Amino acid sequence: MRIVLADLKATEGVVGKDTVAGGYGSRLVPLSRTTEVYCFFKKNFHDHPSVQMAYIAAICARLGHEVAWTRDELLEGDVAVILSSLVDYRRETAWADAARESGLRVGFVGLAASKMPDLFAGHADFLIDGEPESAIQRLAGGESLSGVCQSEAISDLDSLPFPRWDLLQSRKLLRRISAVSRPFGGGFPLLSSRSCPEFCTYCPHRILTSYRARSVNNIVEELEQLCDRYPRPYVVFRDPLFTEQRDRCLALCDEVLVRGLNFRFECETRLDHLDEHLLDRMRAAGLRVITFGVEAVSDETLRKVARRPTPEAHQRAIIEVCSRRGILTTAYYVFGFLPDNWNSIAATIDYSIALGSTFAQFKILTPYPGTPLWKQMKPLIYEHDWQKFDGYTPTFKHPHLNAEELRFLLGAAYARFYTRPSWLANYLRIRRGPVRQWVHRMDTKAFEAHTRKEIELMSRPVTC
Ligand code: SF4
Repeated sequence: MRIVLADLKATEGVVGKDTVAGGYGSRLVPLSRTTEVYCFFKKNFHDHPSVQMAYIAAICARLGHEVAWTRDELLEGDVAVILSSLVDYRRETAWADAARESGLRVGFVGLAASKMPDLFAGHADFLIDGEPESAIQRLAGGESLSGVCQSEAISDLDSLPFPRWDLLQSRKLLRRISAVSRPFGGGFPLLSSRSCPEFCTYCPHRILTSYRARSVNNIVEELEQLCDRYPRPYVVFRDPLFTEQRDRCLALCDEVLVRGLNFRFECETRLDHLDEHLLDRMRAAGLRVITFGVEAVSDETLRKVARRPTPEAHQRAIIEVCSRRGILTTAYYVFGFLPDNWNSIAATIDYSIALGSTFAQFKILTPYPGTPLWKQMKPLIYEHDWQKFDGYTPTFKHPHLNAEELRFLLGAAYARFYTRPSWLANYLRIRRGPVRQWVHRMDTKAFEAHTRKEIELMSRPVTC
């Protein structure tokens, strides 16, 4: 059988799918000059290929099928498996219609198809509900899937074959990935665990399956294979909580060092799951970038969405350690929690700057279908276009802020964070001395300019 895997490229804005927002995806359409530049870098350095599709490719190839991969073009084949998302489902379903017309049987995989089957059902022969691997094994074994097919989560993740990147990427993309340091074109996503054991009510990462982790040996085998095939690869661990098991993480770093694997990696975790010793070992094993959620400055706000706050002193200490070790840091923030108002969001923006992470990503709270927050906020949701549930668009009636204010605060956050001299100085690791004093003076001028502009546009500054 010839199986076509479609990880379709969206046309508008910067779109992330696969493991972004658990698989619902995100779309940022630039809302200012700063976000235009931000989007340019995101598009070119964060456009990772789909790890779900790479697993599917491996399963199909192992059972002797021919695998073809597309990001756009309609290919010939017997069956097409499409990666679903919420933010670009119209393009995906239109592609599915065309594929069916050309004679392929078509199925969807991913969180969107699992939780929002009605969006895809009229455009497909089958929908896979759950992590796709068990159902794909059945498909590759000769079963003709149809309708909604339950797919049990694989409990022993070590039993899966390693993702087959060679079947998914063009030679050009592979060269781009392997040639440069923080790679233009993205890195190799790797899942060392799946789901998350925390309980944040807004999070779509934990609504499909429960937390499971691979063994150290199995992860290192995959890393070794990548290192054999691609010179000094850049690996992006897409686990929602990479350091959940500290001992496993330390053992992984040790094994990487024992085997002398030469690669660099980034990962995402919680700051309270990090300490200096662990960071040192991860740095020695190749850690270069670490991403974590701060979300909001108010502990009370975080507790309302069942997110355990991390003490400020610990956040600052870890970021300082990362900075000293040359590990870049990216902090995530969310605007629009129900207790939020103009001042609390302004305080969060101030905090994002004071914390000193290398990068920051700001989003607007999105009540994703299937999350506890979705249930709670249903009466407030006014948006009917599912593609707008993209992480950057207001979708519900906020008690204290209208949609225009939320968008404005989002734009202001990017402007205030990225267009200040100290951002560049931090990036270049200029932390002390006369240059830093000059930078501090220039920052004051930049903030005054922002304040003037904000008053001009919204009659009030983004300060608390
Ligand atoms: S820590 Fe919270 S927000 Fe992060 S992945 Fe886990 S449940 Fe989601």
